[in-house]
Amino acid sequence: RSVMERVLQRRSLRMRNMQRAWRESPEGRKMMDFRKSLPAFQEKERLLQAIARNQVIVISGETGCGKTTQLPQYILESEIESGRGAFCSIICTQPRRISAMAVAERVSAERGEPLGEAVGILSLNTLTYCTHKDSVNVGYKVRLEGVKGKNTHLLFCTSGILLRRLLSDRNLNGITHVFVDEIHERGMNEDFLLIVLKDLLPRRQDLRLILMSATLNAELFSSYYGGAPTIHIPGFTYPVRAQFLEDVLELTGYKLTSFNQVDDYGQEKMWKTQKQLAPRKRKNQITTLVEDALNNSSFDNYCSRVRDALARWMPDCIGFNLIEAVLCHICRKERQGAVLVFMTGWEDISCLRDQLKAHPLLGDPNRILLLTCHGSMATSEQKLIFEKPPPNVRKIVLATNMAEASITINDVVFVVDCGKAKETSYDALNNTPCLLPSWISKASARQRKGRAGRVQPGECYHLYPRCVYEAFAEYQLPELLRTPLNSLCLQIKSLQVGSIGEFLSAALQPPKPLAVQNAIDFLKMIGALDEKENLTDLGKYLTMLPVDPKLGKMLIMGAIFRCFGPILTIVSGLSVRDPFLLPQDKKDFPAYKSAFGAFPLAGAAKSRFSAKDYSDHMALVRAYEGWKEAEREGSTYEYCWRNFLSAQTLQAIHSLRKQFNFILKDAGLIEEDTNNNNKLSHNQALVRAIICSGLYPGIASVVHRETSMSFKTMDDGQVSLYANSVNARYETIPYPWLVFGEKVKVNSVFIRDSTGVSDSILILFGGALACGAQAGHLKMLNGYIDFFMDHNLAECLLKLKEELDKLLQK
Ligand code: ADP
Ligand code: MG
Repeated sequence: RSVMERVLQRRSLRMRNMQRAWRESPEGRKMMDFRKSLPAFQEKERLLQAIARNQVIVISGETGCGKTTQLPQYILESEIESGRGAFCSIICTQPRRISAMAVAERVSAERGEPLGEAVGILSLNTLTYCTHKDSVNVGYKVRLEGVKGKNTHLLFCTSGILLRRLLSDRNLNGITHVFVDEIHERGMNEDFLLIVLKDLLPRRQDLRLILMSATLNAELFSSYYGGAPTIHIPGFTYPVRAQFLEDVLELTGYKLTSFNQVDDYGQEKMWKTQKQLAPRKRKNQITTLVEDALNNSSFDNYCSRVRDALARWMPDCIGFNLIEAVLCHICRKERQGAVLVFMTGWEDISCLRDQLKAHPLLGDPNRILLLTCHGSMATSEQKLIFEKPPPNVRKIVLATNMAEASITINDVVFVVDCGKAKETSYDALNNTPCLLPSWISKASARQRKGRAGRVQPGECYHLYPRCVYEAFAEYQLPELLRTPLNSLCLQIKSLQVGSIGEFLSAALQPPKPLAVQNAIDFLKMIGALDEKENLTDLGKYLTMLPVDPKLGKMLIMGAIFRCFGPILTIVSGLSVRDPFLLPQDKKDFPAYKSAFGAFPLAGAAKSRFSAKDYSDHMALVRAYEGWKEAEREGSTYEYCWRNFLSAQTLQAIHSLRKQFNFILKDAGLIEEDTNNNNKLSHNQALVRAIICSGLYPGIASVVHRETSMSFKTMDDGQVSLYANSVNARYETIPYPWLVFGEKVKVNSVFIRDSTGVSDSILILFGGALACGAQAGHLKMLNGYIDFFMDHNLAECLLKLKEELDKLLQK
């Protein structure tokens, strides 16, 4: 036998001894008792047998029954018991990074092991982490962050990470079991994984695939894998009483009258009425919906009218007051137990939080522990959610639909469900992504309700009428059908599986051909694919970078042109989130209501960073550099406060910068010597040009009229600027074009961050610049003559020459 085998065998024995020792320790016993009480434990033997006999199985079971934390562990434990622990390698994917991290932490605690501590930085395809102990069996890995020991045998990672691994290791060598969790959510990465794995299974007969779902639609997945066996874990939850809007109104003393009055204008009026009445609580008289409809129209008619009205009504201020009233009702009249409130998005959560903080009862920290739970929160914040509050303090968690399935907060007894979630959708015809609050599905509503019955019988307050619930769709549309496919198509290309369209047609529910074509066109336009749809050199580099292709291209160009620093900041900023906050003065407006001057103070603070260069991206660079400066002086707190900046976001940008820096070094795109990489960083025109090269074809032409400006995209669509863009504050913009990262349809189509660019920059840098594999060589200038046509050609060429001269002089 080989040396390696003997080493592994010895380690397997050590693993078995450690596992047994833990189980016999007092804490280990207590933990085992808890684990045995979970419904999944009843199915353990059946499960292990099924996995031994079948290559693929599908498991369904209610949230909280122990799928994620227990099932992978059962396999690990049984392998360890049979003395083969060191030979097994289990991967379990999660749709979100926060759940991958939380679950890994939980599982290592259940095993009495420390989760490894990260001391290295993630490199391209390998992990360069080391840990203190070599006993670590459980680890996690999410984008740009991770904990993995030398001997990790159970790895929780995001589905994106597994896909990335599949790019470089198409056979998943060394992996013995793959769990794909939360498949019922039908995330894009999960659907993609299912296709890739289906292709892989015949080549890896020994690999085991386990699909896990929280709902009972296991059949769908089972038939996709040729009738794979399904196992259902019967869950135990306490009964939860569902109350709909009708009941809630009665409880809270809200009175509703005619719902015909809800229109755009009426909404604002109602809101004002509400505000004036606010001091005289309880007697709230809100002119809103439902009642007359309840009395007279037919069911269908009623549903559609209620849906129409609620679509405009729910997320705004009246909704908040109703939530506040429900929370008061719970705190005053109901038994002990945590409250979980499902909201649409971070915006709403932070608004509601501010509102509740000012409330005499709900804002009292001696009685209420008010927490938030959303995708971008820091790990330290996360932990608080799981903790028990002190006695007589009630925990209230304001959450996005993240808390719906992948995170379990045990002590929840009350759920408040607003019925909406922010859903991305994709308008293939206009090639525009949309981000709109939309109604959840019946499956989601059931899931939300179920969160209240984990420790005792619970209550769920749905803030919509029962018949609206009846009108919900059964399941949500899979993400693959409602997002742009740019990144996905690039990844498919690098899998070398032939035609993108053909590959995607093997999906559970294939996307529309038009959506695929749009993505291919886009990739061709930015130069990632050539005419025959083959990856170009640029495309190959882009697949290595864990960011959107646009941002990846920007990074590469920044490196090539030796102006890396500012570009690094911009890309990090665009992939984290905007550090410019819109607080306080925002509250007086329904979000983004007016394009100009909606956020006077915050807007003014941001424009201080713009220094008349007509660029949100450069304002971001200045804000970041100012923060670094303030850090040296030890005054970051004051700096952020004064400038309406989020310290947390700046910190995140800072660490992401480091990670990208590392990755690009690893890929050989930048040099060790920072000065060399930043030789041209002070050249404004160049920074602008590189922003343009990345964001192309996101361009809008600036059309000046006598008193106003308007903006038109390439496809002749009209767009508006977000109110907090520095460019929204100018009356004229001395550039013919604005480049932007994304347009989003909210109520009309908006562009978020933009930068003014000249004709010459657009011609030189927009489009499929063939930047070859050799850094520093601009192989060819691919003119976009179309853009010339509207302008005076000679004038443009002169400008172009000027610009080129300037560039060359530097
Ligand atoms: P599922 O994946 O089926 O939804 P999990 O495996 O995530 O269920 O959780 C099973 C049980 O483990 C939960 O019901 C909860 O009691 C417990 N649990 C999970 N995570 C934690 C945690 N971080 N802290 C304490 N208990 C937890
Ligand atoms: Mg789970």
